This record gives sequence, C-alpha cells and structure tokens, in this order.
Amino acid sequence: MTIKSADAAARATVYGYPRQGPDRELKKAIEGYWKGRVTADALKATAAGLRTDNWRQLAEAGLHEVPTGDFSYYDHVLDTTVMVGAIPERHRAAVEADALDGYFAMARGTQEVAPLEMTKWFDTNYHYLVPELGPDTVFTADSARQVAELAEARALGLSARPVLVGPVTYLLLAKPAPGVAADFEPLSLLDRLLPVYAEVLADLRAAGAEWVQLDEPALVQDRTPGELDAAARAYQGLGALTERPKLLVASYFDRLGDALPVLAKAPVEGLALDFTESAAANLDALAAVGGLPGKRLVAGIVNGRNIWVNDLEKSLSTLGTLLGLADRVDVSASCSLLHVPLDASTEHDIEPQIRRWLAFARQKTDEIVTLAKGLSHGTDAIAAELSANRADLASRADSPITHDPAVRARAAAVTDADARRSQPYAERSAAQRAHLGLPLLPTTTIGSFPQTGELRSARADLRTGRIGTPEYEERIKAEIREVIAFQEKTGLDVLVHGEAERNDMVQYFAEQLTGYLATRHGWVQSYGTRYVRPPVLAGDISRPEPMTVRWTTYAQSLTDRPVKGMLTGPVTMLAWSFVRDDQPLAETARQVALALRDEVEDLETAGTSVIQVDEPALRETLPLRADEREAYLAWATEAFRLTTGGVRPDTQIHTHMCYAEFGDIVRAIDDLDADVISLEAARSHMQVARELAAHGYPREAGPGVYDIHSPRVPGSEEAAELLRTGLEAIPAERLWVNPDCGLKTRGWPETRASLENLVAAARTVREEL
Ligand code: GLN
Ligand code: ZN
Repeated sequence: MTIKSADAAARATVYGYPRQGPDRELKKAIEGYWKGRVTADALKATAAGLRTDNWRQLAEAGLHEVPTGDFSYYDHVLDTTVMVGAIPERHRAAVEADALDGYFAMARGTQEVAPLEMTKWFDTNYHYLVPELGPDTVFTADSARQVAELAEARALGLSARPVLVGPVTYLLLAKPAPGVAADFEPLSLLDRLLPVYAEVLADLRAAGAEWVQLDEPALVQDRTPGELDAAARAYQGLGALTERPKLLVASYFDRLGDALPVLAKAPVEGLALDFTESAAANLDALAAVGGLPGKRLVAGIVNGRNIWVNDLEKSLSTLGTLLGLADRVDVSASCSLLHVPLDASTEHDIEPQIRRWLAFARQKTDEIVTLAKGLSHGTDAIAAELSANRADLASRADSPITHDPAVRARAAAVTDADARRSQPYAERSAAQRAHLGLPLLPTTTIGSFPQTGELRSARADLRTGRIGTPEYEERIKAEIREVIAFQEKTGLDVLVHGEAERNDMVQYFAEQLTGYLATRHGWVQSYGTRYVRPPVLAGDISRPEPMTVRWTTYAQSLTDRPVKGMLTGPVTMLAWSFVRDDQPLAETARQVALALRDEVEDLETAGTSVIQVDEPALRETLPLRADEREAYLAWATEAFRLTTGGVRPDTQIHTHMCYAEFGDIVRAIDDLDADVISLEAARSHMQVARELAAHGYPREAGPGVYDIHSPRVPGSEEAAELLRTGLEAIPAERLWVNPDCGLKTRGWPETRASLENLVAAARTVREEL
C-alpha cells in the first residue's frame, strides 16, 4: 500500500501519559508526604520534574503537540471538581486551610470526614472520585493549576494543549450530594457550569493555549435525546465564545453513535475519535455525516488500552481513508496512555523476540509519530519502520506461543454439552443436600483470610532466595492449619483454606498457566497511589499442572467438614489482565475456561465437594453500549459453564461477585448455572436478596451480612437482623450466611470477632425457623 502525502502535515499527539514516573516516583513521593517524610515543596518538585521529563521525552520522540493538565496527584476527575469549585460542604474547611491537604482529604477521607466515593472510569480499571452535586451547588472557576502546567510546558519551548474533562462528561459522572434527592440530575446544572468552563478557557487562551481539548467519553455510552441535547447546547455555548482557544472535543473507549452528528455540527474546531477495532463504526458514521469539513480530526488509531504493537500498515490505510473526511487529520492513541505501562524496553525478563510484540506508552508514542510521518510524507518515509513492524507482527502470528495446536484442537472440539451440568439445578441440589449434609442457613466465607505481614514477607523471602520452596511451603501450611483450626472452633460449616499462598487472585493463576507473561515494571494506575501490574495474556492458554489442589487437599486433610476449593473464573482472568488482540475475546475466554476446567476436575477427583469460581469482574466488563451486551454475556457465561460444567451432580459449584448492583445481569447470573452465589449486601441491608427474589432467582444465595470493607465488627444481633431481612426474600432452604467478600485486607482480631458473631447470628436465626 502506498499513501500519497497529506495536504497539511499530520501532527502526532497524545491525550495523556502515565503519571507515575519510571520507578513510580510519584507514588513514593505522595505516600511519603502522607507519612510526613516528604515536604509539600519536595512533593511538588518531584511532580514538576516528572511532568518535565514526560514532556521532554514526548517531544524528543517527535510528538508535535504535548498534553498538559493530564497530570494529577490523585485523579483527574477530582482535579476537575477543584477546577469548577464543586468542593463538597464537608471538605470546604480543609480545602481552605490547605489546598493540597484538603485535596487529599477529599480523595481519602480523614478521621472526621468521609472521602468522595470512588468508582470505575468507564470500562477501564482506573477509578475516579465521583463529584457530588446538588441544586445548591455553586461553581467557581479555578484555572490556576491548568494555567501553571501550560506555562511549564511552554517554558520548555513546546507546543502544548491543555486537556480538561468536558462539562457534559463531568456532570454525567457526578451523583447527587448526600442529602440531595436521589433523582436529582447533575446534568440539570449544565447552564450553571458552562460559564465556569468559559472562564477557564479564556484563562488558558490568555496563557497562550492555541487549542484546548475537552474530553467527553461519556458520549460513547447510550445517551437519551435529552442528554444529547445537553451536549449540543454545551458546545453551541462554548463554541460561541469569543475569548477562547480552538476546541478539540475528544471521545474514546467506543464509537460516538448518535453523539457524532451532534458534535460534527457543533461550532468547535476539532474532534478526536476512536478508530480502533471496537469503535470501527466511527469510520462509516463519519462518512455518513459527510465528514468534518473545515475541522481538525484527531484519529485515535493506536490502541491506548492494550499493550500490543500496532499494525502500522492497517492503521495507515484507515488514516488514508480519513484524509478525505476532514480538513486535517492528526494521529493519536485511542485514549490517554494512562491505561498502559510506561516502557516495554525495560522488561528484560521477557525474551527480546517477544518483547518486540509489546508496546507500552513510550512505544505507542513512537508508533504515533511514525504513522503521522507516513501520513504526511508517504510510506517511503517510514519504510524501515514498516518493515520492522511487519517482521514483529509475523513473528507474533507464527509463534508457537500464540498457536498451540493442542489447545486449539481442544477449544474447537467444545460442544454445547460440555458447558452444561449433567442434571438440572433442582435435581443436583437434592443430591448436594444429601451429600453435604449441611444445616439450614449454612455458614461459610468467601475464600481469603487476612494476608498478614508474615505471609507477605515469606513470599518476599522466597523471591529473593532467603528461604527455599520447602521452607516457604511449610509456612503456608502452618497458616492453613491455623485458618482451619479457627474455622472449626468457630463452627463454620463450609471451610476454606484461606488463600495464604496467593499474592493476587489473578496473578497467582497467571503465573502457573502457560501463555501468560509477567512484567517487571508494567504498573498502571488503578486509583490514587495504587498501581497494579496486570499479567499479559499473550498466547494460547494451557495448564501444565494442578495449581491449587495441593493446598486445598492439605486443608481438607485437617478436617471432616467440607473445604471449598477456590478458583478465579475465566472472565475475571481476562478482565484483570492485558488480553491478546489477535483473536476474539470469546476464544481466549474459552481457552482459559478449559484450563480451569481441568483444575475443577482435579479438585473434584481429590475429594473436594464444594468448588467456588469467583467472577467479580463479570459485570465490570459489560460493554458500554447496550447492543453489545448480549453477545458479551453469551460468551462470558459460556466460559463459566465450561469451567464448571464437567462436575458430578453432587459437587456444589459456588460463585462470588463483589457488587451490590447487578439488577441488569440477573439473567446472566442465572445462566452461569452455579448452585450457590455470594454477593455484597451488608451495606445495602440485603437489597440484593430482594432483587434476586424479584427476578425469581431460583438458586441458593449468600447475600453478605458482614461488610469487610471496614474494620468495624458487626454485632451478632445486627447480623441476625440482616438474616431475618434476607429470609423475607429468600427461603431458609436457599439462604447462606457469609461475609460480603474475602478477608485478605482485614486484620485477624476483627476477622475473628466478626466471624464468631456471624456464626452466632446463624444459630440464633436457625432456632427461630
Ligand atoms: N476468593 C477471593 C477472596 O476471598 C474473592 C475476592 C474477590 O471477590 N475480589 O479474596
Ligand atoms: Zn468479592
């Protein structure tokens, strides 16, 4: 393929960059500040240094325009809250006393005041702080930070573009403040918010910004006509301002759909659209509205959410098509590079050949620059890059890692029957009752017991070679003995081994499955100073040997009560990893499911009668657009059933999900065909139980009666009251008694007291039946 060069040179840019620094310097400085070891000035200096390093690096890589204002001490939505002056009443005093401390108080809370609520940023694993708004909210502009960061970048001689969360997305992400009616719609504040944006835009213009980017990812979700109308009004209003920079409205994470014509018509100078595979519909939609004559189009063509090398020729061909559809086409990643790690070239543990398949933020920046160059000067100008890219793609496509014939043959041979239990739920449940002999209202836990400092240091000692495997295993076994003895003494009915050996519920399995890679420095921000290092699901998945059986059977050897086997489900294994992009997710899920199926079978063979397969991510991976959900739920539930479908009727399959709002997926939960489900419910006073009942959910369920997110110990009468409430919705034959989630983040003292109270509550309520 050859591309003739574009009329105007294409510019290369990004919307945002990892904030943490090559060695997570930002995390260390912020946490040091919290502990009083780092002064505010030192923290600010570290932050400024990281910003400068990032900008320099981006400019040296050949980026024509760098983003500013994408940096954050905690979260960019919280920064927007500060920018528009929407500080919650309870935090005002702290913010006025000290801006930085007040900011962290909003993020994390203090002894006296609760923080803002945190929730997922669209369907990523990044979490933002939810703005709290109400009819009395007064917005005031505070552009100081945005202006200062723009000035920093300009002082380096760079062409810089401030990036802000757009007003419509900001309001759509907000919730009614405490005390405000639940049906209050933050979007109704739009007319009050726009003047504040106008002021910030004027300040940025005065500070030298030619362009400002307004991020509106909320417009890639299904939106009502009223919401689309609000978007139209917002950009009519901002577009009509005279004292303003040029406006680039950015969307990402999916197609714009009905919002595309709205934005195309708006009097703004540019749009940024996602053109990666999952948003490919943007291309036709753009053609259908007649393109963007007179506007700048920023094409998000390099996937900002995965870690794979781009197919440069394919991207160039898309970019070539776009050339005819806008005045000027620039090149970017599909979204901020915040969601990928910094630099794949530092992954020295990964074979160089395989490392070349990976592209983290730095490599993606290079790809963007290369594509802009190809678009501007023709393919000849990037011949060397194209040929290297072809070789990398070929090496990945032809690798035995990505193509294991045995795995492929097995996945291809899967039949519908493999994903079905041999008996319907009603019959199996009778068999399980007979086999397990549990009392009414059986008590259990979700799997993990406290991850103590000793356990973590045992793992660290093993890693650094201070102790050998036998010594490590002995320490884990000692922990299992303690956990089993405690559960027996307390009188729990279905025991667990406690998951002491697991660093993380996904990583533990990823490390043992063939086809997964681990990274050394692949950190991405989950929230605030919390970073995670998702494993890379790079190839065909197989299980060389059992992963959990020895721990579960050891635990079972210590007791006559049933010990529940504990696995992470296929959907969660995908959701919390970087997944391959060279085959459909459904295919990858099926491979993982088959590997887990073998583990389930081995557990059963070894005498495990109860096996829990956790799927906390089932709902969070739900596609942003409603019309894509059915297909997702079909393969997701099939993967779960494939994992669990091969067991005997009298083996009881549990699943666990950690959320309280699942009304929209109750049917899918039923489709899992699990025998028992445990869910979060303590905080919402068993709302979950009522919802399950309302949907006619026919199986056993354990709505949590102990909120494990807090160190607070629930009293036994309080737990009993929750159980009685649960019994109003779920009959005693189908109600389980358990905490909301695993206990790994809790300490032993509160765990002990809480579980004792939980068992006492079950006994009390049993006697009332
Ligand atoms: N079995 C896991 C645990 O108990 C479940 C964790 C989760 O749902 N996130 O820790
Ligand atoms: Zn959970």
